[in-house]
Amino acid sequence: MSLKIVADLHTHSNISSHADSSIEENCAAAAELGLKMIATTDHGPIVEDGPEESYFATMHEWLPRSISGVEILHGIEANIINANGETDIDPSWGNLLDFGIASIHGGYFHGEDYDEFTNAYWKVLENPYIDLIGHMGTPMFLCDYEAVIKKCARVGKLIEINAASFRHRISSIPNCIEIAKLCKKHGTRVMVNSDAHAKDQIGLVAPALEMLESVGFPEELIVNGNMERLTEYLENRRR
Ligand SMILES: [Zn+2]
Ligand SMILES: [Zn+2]
Repeated sequence: MSLKIVADLHTHSNISSHADSSIEENCAAAAELGLKMIATTDHGPIVEDGPEESYFATMHEWLPRSISGVEILHGIEANIINANGETDIDPSWGNLLDFGIASIHGGYFHGEDYDEFTNAYWKVLENPYIDLIGHMGTPMFLCDYEAVIKKCARVGKLIEINAASFRHRISSIPNCIEIAKLCKKHGTRVMVNSDAHAKDQIGLVAPALEMLESVGFPEELIVNGNMERLTEYLENRRR
């Protein structure tokens, strides 16, 4: 297989009680695999067992920019909370973060149908703190993938190919394949991330890369496939 990643930009730490490893342990695991960068992206503050707002507001004060030689982006997996695409990021600290994922999670989204999910993703692409739409293939939140993916290309944001979907959300896989094909069709850039909840899941993305190979996905659209592309994205995005 020729596709690879050099950075894992969706990882959770044990600040959340449902994740196992510290940021230090995650970085050590990334270093072991030769990854150059991780984003630490714990769930936004409305998730009960995740960190409080103060964690995100003060991250720049206590979290180093690199550990074990692995660069760290200070990030969040924000919750999209409604069809207006509002999230649980507060602007008072949103601009202190380096990287934002926006995901819909059951129990935290007010809305229930296809149009509401479509509008939620559509609008969140206008949020300056958001870089990436997380695990859009979740079947519960089926939406107009093509509309969202086309807009994503237009505004220069990213769609995630989430490797955890291949581990424990396998009903997502057909949707992930469709999403990959649409990203290829519209030239929408993607990130392939682990969504690790423990250090031994860091960088674990092989099934997602195999799926991309199987649909002939262009390597140049994988933003975290090499450091030049990733740096180019991070330096030139509009925030
Ligand atoms: Zn998530
Ligand atoms: Zn996650």
